[in-house]
Amino acid sequence: MPKKFDVVIIGGGLSGLLSASALSRKGLKICVLEKNRDTGGMIQSFNREGISFDTGMNFFGAFEKGQIQNELFKSFGIAGKTNITKISNFELVAKNGKYKIPNNFERFEKQLISYFPKEKEGIKVFLKQIKEIFYHISLESDFEDLSFLQYYEKSALKFINSVTKNRELAELLKFNNLLFGSNLETTPLYIYAVITGSFLQSAGTFTNGSKQFIEVLENQILNNKGTILTKKEVEKIITKNDYISHCVCNDGTAYFADTFLSTLHPQNIIPKIQSPLLKTFYRKRIAGLSNSKASLIINVILNKKTVLFDNKPKFINTEGKSVLFYFPVSGKNENYAGTAKIMIEDNVAPYSQWTDTKPNKRKDNYNLYKNERAKEIFNFIEKYFPGFKENIHNYFVSTPLTFRDYTGSPEGSSYGILKDYTKSSETIFSVNTKFKNLFLTGQSINFHGLLGVSITSSIACTVLTKYITNRKIN
Ligand SMILES: Cc1cc2nc3c(=O)[nH]c(=O)nc-3n(C[C@H](O)[C@H](O)[C@H](O)COP(=O)(O)OP(=O)(O)OC[C@H]3O[C@@H](n4cnc5c(N)ncnc54)[C@H](O)[C@@H]3O)c2cc1C
Repeated sequence: MPKKFDVVIIGGGLSGLLSASALSRKGLKICVLEKNRDTGGMIQSFNREGISFDTGMNFFGAFEKGQIQNELFKSFGIAGKTNITKISNFELVAKNGKYKIPNNFERFEKQLISYFPKEKEGIKVFLKQIKEIFYHISLESDFEDLSFLQYYEKSALKFINSVTKNRELAELLKFNNLLFGSNLETTPLYIYAVITGSFLQSAGTFTNGSKQFIEVLENQILNNKGTILTKKEVEKIITKNDYISHCVCNDGTAYFADTFLSTLHPQNIIPKIQSPLLKTFYRKRIAGLSNSKASLIINVILNKKTVLFDNKPKFINTEGKSVLFYFPVSGKNENYAGTAKIMIEDNVAPYSQWTDTKPNKRKDNYNLYKNERAKEIFNFIEKYFPGFKENIHNYFVSTPLTFRDYTGSPEGSSYGILKDYTKSSETIFSVNTKFKNLFLTGQSINFHGLLGVSITSSIACTVLTKYITNRKIN
């Protein structure tokens, strides 16, 4: 007789682990099915030369006491259990010079007014609007309540251009373009304001990487008697009328549950569900949605004691490029940086000749191409941080194909479905589905990042738990 769970969670990335930890804390018998050998998805880490590197996850906002990410950590039972290092300032390298971007509303306002005294009014209007939208987010936020829609249907870019005619200031306000997949053209004001607002409240990074965060979540799930199964790729979801009966993995094993929570990208989960309830036009609509851009990540090991450490992540937005460059915090309190991380927007097109290949089975010309790209980016960074290049000991490059193959994200997209202020009804999803016991979470549902995924998973878990409670009563 196959084992039956209260909840089967499909995918063991950030949203799967957060949801599993929340639901198992409520005493529900949960099972996470993850296709890879390790959990973590886009925040998983890997080791090279004895050093742990993060694939995605650089930093996050609003993490201090009383702020929204901290409240979310509390609600997931993990507040205070992870080591977080505060980031006081970002830096922006723009066409006309370097700017300090304080991660604090008051300091940010003062700093910007000192750079652009004539733009004081515009800066105040900017911050008032960002705060109004950002403070609207709370643990009780419910994306089913559409009061936030008015901001979802406005353009972030048009908003920035409306507060100032000063091109230099407008460029500064786009400093975090990369955190939206360099897609501010389509980004809804709502998402820009919530993410920017969270970083202007406070910013932090996991000390020594996201590995310890994953471990905290996994331990909590296991302590609550939850089950985490890896190397379990869900291939089919079997329905009975408007219910999910079970799912079947690539090794033929079947998992039965009262409820199912999918954390997968909608373009991955929908084709796995065979049911007349999902009409052809709906399937085509989902398949036709655009995805946010992908990333090229270069993790660098630096020569020992050569590059001074600083905890000021740098956004370099020049020459038509958006590059993030920083020194990950090792927690060793050293004066010198051990590693550097570089992130730049990318897409699968330049890798078309390797589209049908699998990781570790790609030919040498793939590695040659990756190295060429890396060297080109090192030369770019060298212009702004002279001396960096000569202190590189070794480096490891992840391409959009790496992300596509390890996380299943279509086209290796970094942030899932492209959010578009002109298509709100198509690009935000409900956590409910046509199937009474199937719920959705993950970065494509509302918005991406630690904050977006935490909020969405919190909503999905609340809705799912209510469903279970109501079913028991009836
Ligand atoms: C390069 C990069 C940098 C980023 N930087 C930041 C940052 O600095 N700050 C921030 O807040 N956010 C950042 N993000 C975004 C953040 O990492 C994501 O929003 C978040 O991790 C997504 O979590 P998820 O659970 O929705 O998806 P995923 O992490 O993709 O999880 C999905 C999981 O499902 C598994 N899976 C897929 N198909 C199947 C299947 N058929 N059966 C079973 N399992 C399956 C995958 O292996 C994966 O583990 C970054 C993302 C990237 C790519």
